[in-house]
Amino acid sequence: MRTVHVIGGGLAGSEAAWQLAQAGVPVVVHEMRPARTTEAHQTEGLAELVCSNSFRSDDAEFNAVGLLHQELRRLGSLIMRAADANQVPAGGALAVDRDGFSAAVTAALARHPGVTIARGEIEALPPADWDEVIIATGPLTSAALAEAVRGLTGTDQLAFFDAIAPIVYRDSIDMSVAWFQSRYDKPGPGGTGADYINCPLSQEQYNAFIDGLIAGEKTSFKEWEASTPYFDGCLPIEVMAERGRETLRHGPMKPVGLTNAHAPHEKPFAVVQLRQDNALGTLYNLVGFQTKLKHADQVRLLRSIPGLAGAEFARLGGLHRNTYLNSPRLLDGALRLKAEPRLRFAGQITGCEGYVESAAMGLLAGSAAAAARLAQPFTPPPATTALGALLNHITGGHVETLDQGPPSFQPMNVNFGLFPPLERAPRADGGKRLRGKDKARAKKQALTDRARNDLEAWLAGRPVAP
Ligand code: FAD
Repeated sequence: MRTVHVIGGGLAGSEAAWQLAQAGVPVVVHEMRPARTTEAHQTEGLAELVCSNSFRSDDAEFNAVGLLHQELRRLGSLIMRAADANQVPAGGALAVDRDGFSAAVTAALARHPGVTIARGEIEALPPADWDEVIIATGPLTSAALAEAVRGLTGTDQLAFFDAIAPIVYRDSIDMSVAWFQSRYDKPGPGGTGADYINCPLSQEQYNAFIDGLIAGEKTSFKEWEASTPYFDGCLPIEVMAERGRETLRHGPMKPVGLTNAHAPHEKPFAVVQLRQDNALGTLYNLVGFQTKLKHADQVRLLRSIPGLAGAEFARLGGLHRNTYLNSPRLLDGALRLKAEPRLRFAGQITGCEGYVESAAMGLLAGSAAAAARLAQPFTPPPATTALGALLNHITGGHVETLDQGPPSFQPMNVNFGLFPPLERAPRADGGKRLRGKDKARAKKQALTDRARNDLEAWLAGRPVAP
C-alpha cells in the first residue's frame, strides 16, 4: 500500500500518524526538529508541549474539553493514552509530565512497524508523487513551507499572538508564605485537593503589581505584526492589566475557593496559583501568567509576588506569532484543501486552539486519510459530538452552501457553544421548568448524553475499526 506523508510531528501530526498506522496504512512522519527548531520548542521529542502542561478539565459530564478527552480515548487516541500514563496532580484538570508525555508518544511511534520518522524540514509543497499528505506543522510552521502554502491558497493567512507562562523551580518558592491547596479543595485525577501552590497578595501588593505590569518594558512588535490581534483565551497578563485594574483579580488572580493556611482569618485580595509541571514535582508553572514583558522586568515583577521573592525560573514567559488558515473557506469536510485535495491539514494550523483540539483534528485527518487509502468512505462524526462540533467550526459545515465561508474565522477552543442546540430544554423530574445554575447544568448534561449516544451510533456504522 502507498505511504501517507505527515508533515509535522507535533500533537496533531503524531495522532494522525498513529491513526494511519493502526489502520494498517504505512506512514512517514516528517519532523524538522532538531535540524531546525521553532521559537517555542525546546526538544527534539514528538508532541512537545510548548507552554502549559495542562490538557484542561477532565470532567466529561459538564465540560466540553473533558468530553473531547473522552471521545478521543474512545477512538484509541495515542495522545490521550500518553497523557493518561503521565499525569501529574492538577485539581480537576488533566495535566502531564511534559517530558514523560513526549517520550511516550515518540516511543510509541518509533516502535510501530508501520511508522517511519524522517527528520528534516519540508521546505516547499510536497512532490507531486506524494498523493496523500497531511500538513500538521502547527502555529509555528517554518517560514518556507508557510510561504509555499500561502502561494497555493491564494489568500492571506491570518495570524494572532500567543504568549507562554513562566516556570519556577519548586524549591525556590517560599512555603512559609505560600501554601498548597486546590480551589474549593477539589481533588482532580490522581490529586489530593491540595495540588496547587498559592501565593497571597494584599490590596496594596496587588495594586503595586498592576502598576508594575502596566509600566514594565514589553517586547516590541515588528511593524508587520502591529495589527495582529491577541487570542482572547490566552491574553498576556500585562494586556489584561491594561484592560482594567480588576481584570486579573477576576481572572487568573481570583482569590475565591482558597484559604491562606498561614493566616486563615485574613482573606487574600488576590492569589497567584502555580501548578506542578513535571512528574518529579520540581517545576511549577504560573497558571494563566502568559507574558511578553522583557525578561529583566519579568523577573523583578514576579519576585515581588509574596512567596516568590527568591524564585528561580526554569523558563520565562514569551510571545509568539500564531499562523492559521481561513479553513471554512479553504478546506472541505475531510480537512482537504479544496484547491489541491491530496493535501489535508490538521492541528492548530486549521484554526482550532489548544493541545487537545489539535490532537483531535489530527485524529480526524488521520482517519480520513486512512479511509481514502483503504478505499472506504469517510463519514465525519456527527456535529452533536465534541469532535464533530469542532470539525464543523473549522470546515464551516454550517455554511457549506456558501462559497466564501463565514466572514471572520476565529480560532476556537472546543466549547458547548459549538454544539447544535438541544431540541427540547431539559426539565426537572415532574416536568418543572429549571432555572439558573440548575438549568445550565442540566443543559450540559443533556448535551454530553446526546454526544455519547451519537458517537456510539457513528462508531457502529464506521467501516474502519478505531
Ligand atoms: P505543533 O505541536 O507545534 O507541531 C507542529 C510540528 O511541526 C512541530 O514539531 C514543528 O517542529 C514541525 N514543523 C513545522 N514546520 C515544519 C516543516 N516545514 N517541516 C517539518 N516539520 C515542521 N495550547 C494549549 O492547549 N495550551 C497552551 O499552553 C498553549 N500554549 C501555546 C504557546 C505558544 C507559544 C503557541 C505558539 C501555541 C500554544 N498553544 C497552547 C496552542 C497549541 O495547542 C499548540 O501550539 C499545539 O502544539 C498545536 O499542535 P500542532 O500539532 O498543531 O502543532
